[in-house]
Amino acid sequence: MAIVSTAGLGYPRIGENREWKKLLEEFWGGKREEQSFQKEMRELRIRRLLRQKKSGVAWVPSGDFTLYDSVLDHIAAFDLIPSRFRHLGTPDSLAVYFAMARGIEGAPACEMTKWFDTNYHYLVPELADQPNPKLVFNPWLDAFTEAKREAGLLTRPVLIGPYTLVRLAKGVPSSAFADVVRSFIPAYNSVLEQLVKAGAGWVQLDEPSLVTDVPQEHLALLKEVYGALKSSNPKLLIQLQTYFGAVEHPEAVFSLPVDAIGLDFVRGKDDNLNAIRKYGWPIGKKLGAGVVDGRSIWRVDPDQALGLLEELATQLPADQLIVQPSCSLLHSPVTVAVETSGDDIVRGSLSFADQKLEEVVALSEALEARLNGGVGELSPRLEENRAALAALRNHPARHRAAAQGSSEESVKGRAPFAERHALQLERFNLPLLPTTTIGSLPQTADIRKARLDWRRGKLSDDAYRQLLQERTELWIRRQEEIGIDVLVHGEFERTDMVEHFAHLLDGYHFTTNGWVQSYGSRCVKPPVIYGDVMDRGAMTLEDTLYAQSLTDRPVKGMLTGPITMLAWSFYRNDISRKEIADQIARALDAEVLRLEAAGIGMIQVDEPALREIAPLKRREWPEYLQWSVSSFRRSVAGVRDETQIHTHMCYCDYHEIIDAVEAMDADVISLETSRSHGSLIHALEHQPYANGIGLGVYDIHSPVVPETETMLAVIRDSLAVVPADRLWVNPDCGLKTRGEPETLAALKRMTEAAVLARAEL
Ligand code: GLN
Ligand code: ZN
Repeated sequence: MAIVSTAGLGYPRIGENREWKKLLEEFWGGKREEQSFQKEMRELRIRRLLRQKKSGVAWVPSGDFTLYDSVLDHIAAFDLIPSRFRHLGTPDSLAVYFAMARGIEGAPACEMTKWFDTNYHYLVPELADQPNPKLVFNPWLDAFTEAKREAGLLTRPVLIGPYTLVRLAKGVPSSAFADVVRSFIPAYNSVLEQLVKAGAGWVQLDEPSLVTDVPQEHLALLKEVYGALKSSNPKLLIQLQTYFGAVEHPEAVFSLPVDAIGLDFVRGKDDNLNAIRKYGWPIGKKLGAGVVDGRSIWRVDPDQALGLLEELATQLPADQLIVQPSCSLLHSPVTVAVETSGDDIVRGSLSFADQKLEEVVALSEALEARLNGGVGELSPRLEENRAALAALRNHPARHRAAAQGSSEESVKGRAPFAERHALQLERFNLPLLPTTTIGSLPQTADIRKARLDWRRGKLSDDAYRQLLQERTELWIRRQEEIGIDVLVHGEFERTDMVEHFAHLLDGYHFTTNGWVQSYGSRCVKPPVIYGDVMDRGAMTLEDTLYAQSLTDRPVKGMLTGPITMLAWSFYRNDISRKEIADQIARALDAEVLRLEAAGIGMIQVDEPALREIAPLKRREWPEYLQWSVSSFRRSVAGVRDETQIHTHMCYCDYHEIIDAVEAMDADVISLETSRSHGSLIHALEHQPYANGIGLGVYDIHSPVVPETETMLAVIRDSLAVVPADRLWVNPDCGLKTRGEPETLAALKRMTEAAVLARAEL
C-alpha cells in the first residue's frame, strides 16, 4: 500500500499531433461546425485524461484543458467579460470567448502577455477598481464530471488562485488591490461548493505569484482569503500550488489555512528546502514536492531527485509527501514516443509530459522502497534515466569548449559613444533622422513553399538560393526607390529568428515533434541546446554581401542575440544560463567579425527576449542584467569604432531596464513605441538615452497602413526627448508577417514622414 502520493499539476492541451491546433483553426476558418468541433475537443480531452491515468499518478488534474487559455476561462466564467464583447452572446458562448481571445472588427482582443518567465502567453483580465465577479457557468465542474463519467477518474480540479488572478490583471489600482481580491471570494466559493457536491475531494489552486515579489501587507490578505475559502468548504481539501521559484515569505505561506502546499524544488530548490529546515513543516499539512522539472525536456536525475525526497522525508512524515512535477506540464511537449530525429544519445535523454509523469510515479516507488529499508538499488525505469544522463554528460559535444582551452581572453574595449558617433557620422554620411527597417520583409507564400520544397529535396539548393536572391534584389530596389537610408537583405531565408541560427551553429538538437503552445493555437518547436554552442562558419555573410553588392547604401548585417537564442530554446542544465549565453555570444561574435572584415559597416544583433527572462524577483535583476548585458557585449566584442552596432527589442517595458540598455552600449537601438508610446517617451524624458535610438513609428502587428501624419507626430514627440542627430525612423518590429502591398505603402509613408520631419528641423 503506497503511502507516498503522486500528482500531476497540468498537462499539455495541444495533443500528440497538435490536433488541438488543427481543430481550432478549422473552426475559426469556418471549415468545421461548432457541434463537431466540440465533439472532437471532448474526445481529445478524454484521451488526454486517459494518458495521464495510464502513467499511474494518483491525482490527475482536470479543468486545465481549455479552448484557448486558462486565464481566459476564468474571465468568462467569472463574468469579467469586457463590455465591448458582451453584445456577442452569453458569457459561455464561443462567440464571446474567441472574440476576447482574437478580437473582431471594432472590438480589439484582450491584451496578451507572457506567463511569468515562460514563453506561454495568457490573456490579461481587464478589471477596474470594482469588478463584480460572479460565477455564471462552471467549466471546472463540467470537466470534473466529464472525467469521472468518461475516464473513470476522480480528478483534482485546477484553478488559478484569486491572488494570482488579480495580480495578473490590469486596471486594479494598488489601493484597491485587497478589496478586489476579496471580491472574488464568493465566486471561488461557488465553484468549490459545486465541486464538493459533485464529489471532489481535492482542489488545486495555483498561486505562482507567491514566488514573485510579494509585499508584506499581502500576507494578511492571503490568510484571510484562504481562510474564507476553507471555512466555507470545510470538507474540501485545498492544495495551494506555487511554481517557477522559491516562495517569498515562506513562514507565512507555509502556515496558510490549506491542506497541502506545492513547492518547486527545481527552480526554487535551495531556498524552499532551507525554508523548510528553518521553519519546519507544519504538522498535518501535505507537501507537494515538485522534483521533476516541468520546464526542461531532460530526464530527471534519479539520484538528485531521490536525495531531495529522502531529505524531505526527514522533515515530515512520508505519508504527507506528494511527488509531482515542478509545475504544469503545459510547457513540455507531449511524448518522446514519436521522436526519431537526431543523435541517439540526445534523443535518449529526453523526457516529455508522458515520461515526466512516469518519472513521478517511479520516484515515489523508489522513495518508498528506500524508506522501507531497501538497499537503494534503482528500478529499471530509473536506472535507464541514470544511464541516459551519464551518456549525455559524456557526450563529446559537451566538452568541445573546454577542449578549445580557456577563452577568457580580454577584448579591446570600444571608444566612448561620442567618439564612435563622430566617426560613424563621417563614414556613413546619412541624413538626419535616417530611415531603416528592423530586418525581415514580407515572407510571401511562394517563399515559404519553396523552403518546404527545398527541405523535402523537391527544390535544388541552387534554385532555392536563386529565388532568395531574386527576392532580395527586388526589395533592395524597392527600398532604394522608397528612399530608405539603411537597407536590409530581408531575412527571406529565415524561418524563425532563433531556429534559423540554431541550424547554423553547433550544439543544437532538433526534435521531431517537440511542440509546445505559445499562445492560442500557435505552437513552437524550440531547438534544444544540448552541447557546447560553437561557430561552424559563416551564417549570414553570403546573403548580406549579396545584398550589399546591389547597392551603394549601407546594408545592415542581421543576427539574433545570445539572450534571445537562449530564451527561446530548451537548454542543458549542467552549466549555467550565463555560460550558455556566453558560448552563443562567442559564436555570434565570430560572424560579426567576419561581416566587419568583409566590409559590412552596420550590424544589428536583436535581443527582444532580454526583458522577458528577467528573474521573477526584483532583487535578482542586477545579477541577471549584469551577465545578460555582458553576453550581448560579448557577441559584438572586438569590432572597430567605425562599425555601427544596432540592436532591437520589441515591447519590453523599456523603463524597467533602461540602465541595462545603456550598458549594452549599442550605437543604435530600435524599440517598439506605438503601443507603449506614452510610457516610453516618459521614460526617456526622465532618463535621456545617450546613444542612437529609433522609436518605432508604426505598429507592424496591424495590417492597417498608418497615416503619414500619425507617424510624423511620433517623430515630433520623439524629437522632444532625443536630439535629431541620434534619432532614427523605423517601424516597431520586423515585417515578415505583413503582406507586400501594405508594407510598401506603409514604408513609403514612413519615409515621407521622415522627410517632412527633417524639413521642420
Ligand atoms: N530582425 C528580426 C525581424 O525583423 C527581429 C524580430 C523580432 O524582434 N522579434 O524579423
Ligand atoms: Zn521586434
